[in-house]
Amino acid sequence: MSNYWSEFPNYSQPDAAELRRKSEATKKKEKAKGKILEPVVIRGRAVTSNWWGNAWCENLERYADYESRLGRGKRYVRNGSVVDLKIKKGKIQARVQGTRRTPYKVEIRISPLSEEKCQAIIKQCGRKLDNLEKLLTGDFPEEMSELFQSKDGLFPAPKEISFTCSCPDWALMCKHVAAALYGVGARLDENPLLFFELRGIDVGHFIDITLANKVEAMLANAGNVSSRMMDDSAAKLFGVL
Ligand SMILES: [Zn+2]
Repeated sequence: MSNYWSEFPNYSQPDAAELRRKSEATKKKEKAKGKILEPVVIRGRAVTSNWWGNAWCENLERYADYESRLGRGKRYVRNGSVVDLKIKKGKIQARVQGTRRTPYKVEIRISPLSEEKCQAIIKQCGRKLDNLEKLLTGDFPEEMSELFQSKDGLFPAPKEISFTCSCPDWALMCKHVAAALYGVGARLDENPLLFFELRGIDVGHFIDITLANKVEAMLANAGNVSSRMMDDSAAKLFGVL
């Protein structure tokens, strides 16, 4: 199979030690310039270990479009090549160390969730406050897995992801983008709330709406109970019973 480095004999794949050396040099250099980098550090053998990170990576791996670069991306993130990764609303910005001394700039955009999907998640959380609590503490509520992991779930589909990288690879997805996407999985393991940030859900607002809906439902229930009680009392008063 033809690939771009076999067509360019001078281009070689950096090995793990070289990538680590270059990544460390970049971190030192940026630190000296006063820049704050947020590197992705993988401690264990697996890139992710919690529900959030695992589910994020499984979602990526479901899409055949990305298959060719995912393996290399995983190797890159394990080698500490993602020297900086920032997750913002609808956007991931990363610096990924590659062959060149200066790391490549990666930008990944994720479309915000539709209003319909935001409502669906609020509704499911509102049904059981335990769900909201679990979501916010990183312990995923199993009964919400369909909402997150189905084909049209909350994890982004390929059509909702667009990306650019400053490297010369013209593949649909280069390994630097793949490494950054795996880096997102590692970050979600540490802080699942970043998922909501990335998908454009304001967590504070989300909690407020969920609680308000729950309180409203409780009051409506309480209203039914008290009107039933009133009816009973009135019936007793007039000797109907
Ligand atoms: Zn690239």
